[in-house]
Amino acid sequence: MSDQPRVEIYTKTDCPYCEKAKDLFDSKGIEYEEYNVTGDDELFEEMVERADGRKTAPEVFIDDELIGGWDDTSARNETGELDEKLDIADENDSDGDGDGNVEHRPLIIAGTGIAGLTAAIYAGRSNNDPLVIEGDEPGGQLTLTTDVANYPGFPEGISGPELVNNMKEQAKQFGAELKNGIVDTVEADQRPFRVELTNGDVYTADAVIAASGASARTLGVPGEDDLMGYGLSTCATCDGAFFRDEDMLVVGGGDAAMEEATFLTKFADTVYIAHRREEFRAEDYWIDRVHEKVEEGEITIMKNTELVEVHGSQEGGVDHVTLVENDQGHPTDRLDDPETNEFEFDVGAVFLAIGHTPNTEYLEGTGVTMDDEGYLRTQGGDGGGQTETDVPGIFGAGDVVDYHYQQAVTAAGMGSKAALDVDEYLEDLERAESASETEAAAADD
Ligand SMILES: Cc1cc2nc3c(=O)[nH]c(=O)nc-3n(C[C@H](O)[C@H](O)[C@H](O)COP(=O)(O)OP(=O)(O)OC[C@H]3O[C@@H](n4cnc5c(N)ncnc54)[C@H](O)[C@@H]3O)c2cc1C
Repeated sequence: MSDQPRVEIYTKTDCPYCEKAKDLFDSKGIEYEEYNVTGDDELFEEMVERADGRKTAPEVFIDDELIGGWDDTSARNETGELDEKLDIADENDSDGDGDGNVEHRPLIIAGTGIAGLTAAIYAGRSNNDPLVIEGDEPGGQLTLTTDVANYPGFPEGISGPELVNNMKEQAKQFGAELKNGIVDTVEADQRPFRVELTNGDVYTADAVIAASGASARTLGVPGEDDLMGYGLSTCATCDGAFFRDEDMLVVGGGDAAMEEATFLTKFADTVYIAHRREEFRAEDYWIDRVHEKVEEGEITIMKNTELVEVHGSQEGGVDHVTLVENDQGHPTDRLDDPETNEFEFDVGAVFLAIGHTPNTEYLEGTGVTMDDEGYLRTQGGDGGGQTETDVPGIFGAGDVVDYHYQQAVTAAGMGSKAALDVDEYLEDLERAESASETEAAAADD
């Protein structure tokens, strides 16, 4: 290994966040030692000890210093601290020479989920030289699932990370450049747009596609902050195997909750689903699979029930939770109702699967219209220009716009539309610029 700092990553098999951590270091050209703890109790204990008791993978170390799991690593990447620790801070400067010049791109795409990568494939093919910024979740939400059974073209199904990696390869083949980083601001009161990343890199761009998706929600209940990563998780496929033979609680009533609960039956003694209403929001396909597991005694459904506190310690993990239940649903809205029953419930792990918040903070101040939850509003409707926002040159695609369908294939469809809309926009821009140059030249004559 070269004289770069020593990077060690503890991983496990079937762990999307481990893949993300490895991808991050790969994308920086940094070599690392990988220790896969799956099935190796001694190595697992070593990881837990070095990671101050945390039972979650990955765990990253640089020169023996604990950097942390994926969230910590990506947060440090966001601030540029990771590059400083790796001694590569200067290499990642947008212009690199400190003279104030910034790199210009016809198109910057925020996000490498399905929408962003599809847009990158189309924009690359149209010679629009897209720069694609990965964000804090490279590959997007689909990297969190091992089984995508409904993406057309894969009759046997395909794993999320594999599908995303195939798309990345395809985008690169057509000339797209993928860059690690998070878009911090887009300044829309100037043309070209000024796009700044959280690590300080600055670019200008004629057009921006916001394909920044949505992030997992948390509940904000007592115990959540302390126990996240210590038995409380938002990713069953990442952390489920660490709590083998425990009773596990999944919170939520949509597709993700049903899929996570079904997946966890591989490891759990019993999986409990706590849902605040009587009816699930999930597709019938997932509800049917959950009901099969209920009949087999592997899942128990707790309807009209909400989680109000998680108890435990970082040393011992989750010990139990406090739940409230009321037959009329939404029990936390009815805490004063004598029919609301509060009770303690023993579980060894808790998985939150309660939906997503759109990632649109970086567009605040641009004048782009968003709904109350922060989802982008685009033109929609028929014909061209469906992905335009009300700020010319800023387009939206995927889950950051689509609060309703939120599927990989719909995100891909919107990604392709956004790239086609951008192509038309850039052509119009070029025509307008050359017309004004011709006018200026005529005026000089
Ligand atoms: C567990 C799970 C299982 C699923 N299973 C299926 C399935 O089987 N079939 C299916 O069709 N759908 C499934 N989905 C839904 C599907 O994953 C999403 O609909 C799809 O990923 C949306 O793609 P997207 O590109 O719009 O957004 P995302 O996948 O959310 O990607 C957003 C991207 O934007 C980046 N980003 C965020 N903020 C910024 C920023 N400020 N700057 C730059 N980049 C940023 C992120 O890092 C990420 O790369 C599943 C979702 C989950 C969570």
